[in-house]
Amino acid sequence: MYDYDLLVVGSANADLVIGVERRPGAGETVLGSDLAVHPGGKGANQAVAAARLGARTALLARVGDDAHGRLLLDSQRAAGVDTAGVLVGGAPTGVALITVDPSGDNSIVVSPGANGRLTPADVRAAASLLHASRVVSAQLEIPLETVVEVVRGLAPDSRFVLNPSPPRPLPPEVLAACDPLIVNEHEAKVLLGEDGVEDGVEGSVSDAPEDWARLLLAKGPRSVVVTLGAEGALVASAQGVTRLPAVKVTAVDTTGAGDAFTAALAWRLGAGSSLAEAAAYASRVGAAAVTGQGAQDSFPTAAEVEAL
Ligand code: ADP
Repeated sequence: MYDYDLLVVGSANADLVIGVERRPGAGETVLGSDLAVHPGGKGANQAVAAARLGARTALLARVGDDAHGRLLLDSQRAAGVDTAGVLVGGAPTGVALITVDPSGDNSIVVSPGANGRLTPADVRAAASLLHASRVVSAQLEIPLETVVEVVRGLAPDSRFVLNPSPPRPLPPEVLAACDPLIVNEHEAKVLLGEDGVEDGVEGSVSDAPEDWARLLLAKGPRSVVVTLGAEGALVASAQGVTRLPAVKVTAVDTTGAGDAFTAALAWRLGAGSSLAEAAAYASRVGAAAVTGQGAQDSFPTAAEVEAL
């Protein structure tokens, strides 16, 4: 019996957002809107998304002993996430400085701060949390060696889900643990690198997501999910590749859609759904998340997913 349906090991950031008429060039100062501060970071987003759906969720993360850290802890608790695993101190809370222009294009500077200080030793110290969790999910906004330690510390029959974002090459040990590895188009192309070469044409990655899924699967994960925004998603395992259509909605803001998708998928897998069933549910959650502004604010409850 597990205490948690999902343990998220990952980042927690304060998103500092300023609207501008024009994003500044080098040496330039522009005046913008009032500052908006939102809780964010892929780890924190995934935990809130899962808890809002009703999953018993815990977060293993690190924030600073500062106002941004308290904002993140408060938002996690408000969503129902168990924050006993959130470590405090060592560096300022991670921050994303975001300027957005009227066309919606943005420029972002991230200071990882405390996220960069979530260490393998912190994971070892949280062994009881890992062992109490049916599914463990991670992303790459924390050190890669910390993710490696998560894989080593998994309970024998628990399941590991990875969204490698921001993408970078993964050691075989991590790839082999992923069930599934969840990537969007950009992440798929970075992970494939030279292996995505089509017909021996150097530097040209195939345009077919089915090919990316097959090539990624060959790198060692037990299963792969490729998310395709408004085009839906596809799932790949030893049983084959299946495409899932997106749910038709009017997109308002796609921020956090991938995080909501991953959290929902991880939770449903832990509840015993097949990969295709879990991905179909996650597509509904991702679609619901793009109908609202922001990331965490837009994540649906289970009732809202049903109503979609
Ligand atoms: P990321 O945010 O990581 O780039 P995607 O944009 O692929 O991820 O979105 C994740 C999932 O959310 C998609 O697979 C899809 O199910 C859902 N989704 C995203 N954008 C839309 C959209 N415009 N309409 C419907 N569903 C969407």
